[in-house]
Amino acid sequence: MSEPDHVRTAPFARIGSVDPADRSTWEGKAFLTFDVDWASDEVIADTLDLVEAAEVEATWFTTHHTPLLERIRANPKFELGIHPNFNFLLAGDPRNGATAEEVVDRLMAIVPEARSVRSHSLVQGGRLFELFRAKGLTHDSNAFLPEQSGIALRPWVDWFGIVRVPYFWEDDFWCDSAQGSPIEALESRAGLRGYDFHPIHVYLNTERLQRYEDAREHFRDAGRLRAFRNESAEGTRDILEQLLAARRGG
Ligand SMILES: [Zn+2]
Repeated sequence: MSEPDHVRTAPFARIGSVDPADRSTWEGKAFLTFDVDWASDEVIADTLDLVEAAEVEATWFTTHHTPLLERIRANPKFELGIHPNFNFLLAGDPRNGATAEEVVDRLMAIVPEARSVRSHSLVQGGRLFELFRAKGLTHDSNAFLPEQSGIALRPWVDWFGIVRVPYFWEDDFWCDSAQGSPIEALESRAGLRGYDFHPIHVYLNTERLQRYEDAREHFRDAGRLRAFRNESAEGTRDILEQLLAARRGG
């Protein structure tokens, strides 16, 4: 059976595979990324199950050691990147590392093969890009240009020699935005299409951030957390499932 629309059948791709000079590595491709954000193993595994079943490529931005890293590593469609948290450092709290280098080193010790990075809260800047480069990181996905801007996304090489791969959709921003485009419309946008999901929002099928706040004290207890899942309105999990269904086999 022939597919009528090239764009609809273009596969997912990983952040680390982007070469701005080679359009075939990014044009018309969907970049499915996950900021793990210290989720429990049950919550991460729930998202992994969905993505593995769809057999698509994805990039996992790691925040901590978990036995699930081996499961992600074992899948040739997956890439492991790092998700450093510089927020404590910005507040003068050294618990996560007394310098930016220490913050990055701690994660690189867990995921030494990482080539891609997205910071928690998108903390970025020239000093950090220099540091990323020095640590062997080649690709960055800290540039969030919301799809509502209508800007067609493409990657570029920045001043520091880092390949920047922007994205236009993020689950928590979607929850907070009155006017989001349906997946169907996003998937026919020109350029590359980057999506950022958090396993906790997939698990909760979050559709408004208050749901996430209400569930906060149960984040380590997947059984109790399950009772907080949104079953009534379109939520983050539904969006992910729509995207996976549109791109199955990519
Ligand atoms: Zn984060």
